[in-house]
Amino acid sequence: MQSGEHKLFELSYGFIGPNYFVIMNTNTDTSDDNPIRYQHYRDLPAEMFAESMPSQTASPTLIELNENLLEQLGIESSWFVSQQALSLLSGNSINEDNRPIALAYSGHQFGNWSALLGDGRAHMLGQLKTAEGEYFDVQLKGSGRTQFSRGGDGRATLGSVIREYLLSEAMMGLGIPTTRSIALLTTGDTVAREKLNPGAILVRSAQSHLRVGSFQFAHAKTAHLKSSQSQPSISGVKALADFTIAQHFPELEQSTSKYLDLLSVVGTRQATLIAKWMLVGFIHGVMNTDNVSIVGETIDFGPCAFMDEYNPQKVFSSIDTQGRYAWDQQPMIAQWNLTRLAETLLPLFDDNEEKSIEMAQHRLSEFMPQFQKSFQTGLMLKLGFSESNDQTQQLTSELLSAMQTDGVDFTVFFNNLTGVAQGESKQVLINLFNDLDGVSKLVDQWQELRAKDSDSLLAMRQANPVVIARNHQVQFAIDAAVEKNDFLPFRRLCRVLANPYLMDSVDDELMKPPKSEERVTQTFCGT
Ligand code: AMP
Ligand code: MG
Repeated sequence: MQSGEHKLFELSYGFIGPNYFVIMNTNTDTSDDNPIRYQHYRDLPAEMFAESMPSQTASPTLIELNENLLEQLGIESSWFVSQQALSLLSGNSINEDNRPIALAYSGHQFGNWSALLGDGRAHMLGQLKTAEGEYFDVQLKGSGRTQFSRGGDGRATLGSVIREYLLSEAMMGLGIPTTRSIALLTTGDTVAREKLNPGAILVRSAQSHLRVGSFQFAHAKTAHLKSSQSQPSISGVKALADFTIAQHFPELEQSTSKYLDLLSVVGTRQATLIAKWMLVGFIHGVMNTDNVSIVGETIDFGPCAFMDEYNPQKVFSSIDTQGRYAWDQQPMIAQWNLTRLAETLLPLFDDNEEKSIEMAQHRLSEFMPQFQKSFQTGLMLKLGFSESNDQTQQLTSELLSAMQTDGVDFTVFFNNLTGVAQGESKQVLINLFNDLDGVSKLVDQWQELRAKDSDSLLAMRQANPVVIARNHQVQFAIDAAVEKNDFLPFRRLCRVLANPYLMDSVDDELMKPPKSEERVTQTFCGT
């Protein structure tokens, strides 16, 4: 981190009039069956959110309810299929006790500072309490304009909602921390983008919707108050950090360095998250600070994608022209984002700024080794090695390099390799490459080095999915729903992605890489 970098905020923050913000009552229980009974974010300083009503929708229809998720959370699904739920989740009736809010946040988008982003098309209904006593946010996405919409219409297209639903379920199936999708509704409204689209709402759940950008917002707000010489309020960042610790990291409560520890724990979660993404070929696509969850869940599935053929510089997003968020750039970007978080927390580390910066730098320096450790450990599991040494590392890099040269499909390679470890012939694996002799030798070396015990084999199976959410299949599911009102491909993909290590032969085609005419080379935000 460069000293003084955080001063940027004082220069670029635009003030938002206080009339946007209404202080809400504290949490209330409702008397009906609606399980969304809490609104913890109302405990935050008033400037961190704005009361906001969803827009009315023409003819809402519940297309999909995630019964599996509700079951996992121990939440009775009957309310979710009721008329009352449809009305609430489509924005057509809002329970007095459960008035939604939109959260305020800032963010660096592709490196450029935006002082005010916030939920421009999302409404936080509140939290539900799981059978285990944990709280989960329930948020509507695509539910209309808020105070943070700027020029946007607050709506979501059916295509973007299907994409987020599928991709978040895919992440869950792969054991990667993620926001989830409780339900998908169509609204009956038309949403104008480059063409007219059916409108939809995603009912999203998450442990938290706080982002690095939330801290940047709180920091910028305090910075503004200082620069205008008004009475500085109690630091918004401190309130937000205390809230985050109380809600999500209570184990830090007693620490004498709890704010530094908060930075560390966010860093550790990001490091493991990014490693997990990369190990299945996932490219988030928009790792702006406003899309970085403070609890380390994958959030805001925009133009994200899983790569087919292995290429470390792979980018899908149509707007990422510089490759800022390419597959192999993700750890560096995560560290950059974490540094932005550290800047906001500096005043909480120590009264002496230089000392604070030093402490922050020390904690930030832990990120890359943590990422490397997670990534290398995962890679060893994928290859069935029980330890990492010079030989295994050399072979791993030769195999990856051969895959890159010959454009070999990342998922198919590791799945076939698992097959060979399980006793299948190596020929199918070798035939994926152009350099048959060279690769045959590498595979023989790998056979020598790999662990042969049943635990390692099982670990290898569990590290190498058979199926991922391939772009062309996601697109196929979207097209069928949007153009023919046919949700069967979407449901089928959902079912298969929930269990990506097991495959029924009837679903074989879903594991195949795209044919040349099926290839999706670019993905779009498609908001
Ligand atoms: P995203 O690219 O989805 O992470 O969104 C970046 C920012 O743009 C966030 O503040 C969103 O709330 C806002 N935004 C995205 N789409 C819309 C929309 N259709 N209407 C209003 N705001 C939007
Ligand atoms: Mg976002």
